[in-house]
Amino acid sequence: MYQPPLPEEYSSATEAELHDRITSARKALGSRLVILGHHYQRDEIIAHADYRGDSYKLAKDANKHPEAEFIVFCGVHFMAESADILTGDHQKVILPNLAAGCSMADMANLFQVRSCWKQLSEVLGDIELDRAGDQPKIVPVTYINSAANLKGFVGEHGGTVCTSTNAAAALDWAFSLAPEGRQDKVLFFPDQHLGRNTGVKMGFDPDTEMALWDPFKPLGGNSVEKLQAARFILWKGHCSVHKRFSVEQIEKARAEYPGINVLVHPECELDVVLASDFNGSTEYILKMVEDAPAGSSWAIGTEVNLVNRLAKEHTDKTIICLDPQICPCATMYRIHPSFLCWVLERLVAGEVVNQIQVPEKTAHWARVALSRMLEIGVKPRD
Ligand code: SF4
Repeated sequence: MYQPPLPEEYSSATEAELHDRITSARKALGSRLVILGHHYQRDEIIAHADYRGDSYKLAKDANKHPEAEFIVFCGVHFMAESADILTGDHQKVILPNLAAGCSMADMANLFQVRSCWKQLSEVLGDIELDRAGDQPKIVPVTYINSAANLKGFVGEHGGTVCTSTNAAAALDWAFSLAPEGRQDKVLFFPDQHLGRNTGVKMGFDPDTEMALWDPFKPLGGNSVEKLQAARFILWKGHCSVHKRFSVEQIEKARAEYPGINVLVHPECELDVVLASDFNGSTEYILKMVEDAPAGSSWAIGTEVNLVNRLAKEHTDKTIICLDPQICPCATMYRIHPSFLCWVLERLVAGEVVNQIQVPEKTAHWARVALSRMLEIGVKPRD
């Protein structure tokens, strides 16, 4: 989305001035305001967040303050959409910089997913989910990193949203919908890696039971036989940050720091996840580091703002980013304090800017899918 340039007084303000002005605006707005900060945000933003978390935690935190008129979401566009869907009609969700999107979320759109569904129906028969009959059905599951209309699509077609925190629970749930003896399939989008890594953790074979769907090729680039055999149809999308981590980086870290623990996010490629010691969502990474004994060493494969913050907060442990070239999420980084200051000062002046509103027609089915995600919750294997 297009974000108009900020007035000069914001773009030229110093870091200290912005900090003080944000603090004053927060004070003036009091309980009318809640600020949510994703872990990948820079420290100068996290300093002002009432809650910090990953997508799953923040989706729940957004609901905790029905009295708040304004929810300022310091994250990316799809997160603000989810917050708008899950919060009350009287609440306004604001994204400080409209240009803060997610390159992974942009890798699947409604037109492509509808076309995929149509093609799958044509070659696999009646795939619409129901609990009866022998014909295998397809349960659509979208990662929360997707546009609201894709969440609406899965809601309407009997599926769910998942996050990296509850992906295994969501997939268990999807397969549990089939009557005994029927082997349903999952269409998982937009991140192939989270789908593949979770499926492998559940015991599925990535070669024989998973097909990759390329939205730019007929049948996603697959034969009918491949699609018939697959239990997972994985969308060809990825996270540009997590794709940077490699097995070579893991080998190098182990050579330089003997005994180091390698901990990566499941948006990394399968060979990286298999070569690591531990893998899990952002909240899992935080907990692993928090619970680790003093003196332990960690090479972490996830967004660098989070890794650097962990290093600052756990000085009794050695914590490094697996990628020596440093890899911030470029779109998360667009939430600069000048944007946060601008939206808050406009609110103090009585003007709502950068509100994210999902049309009710889309919001209805997206809410169904997000509610399923929250009901499914998290299981120990996640
Ligand atoms: S880290 Fe990757 S998945 Fe997360 S917002 Fe950035 S581009 Fe999207």
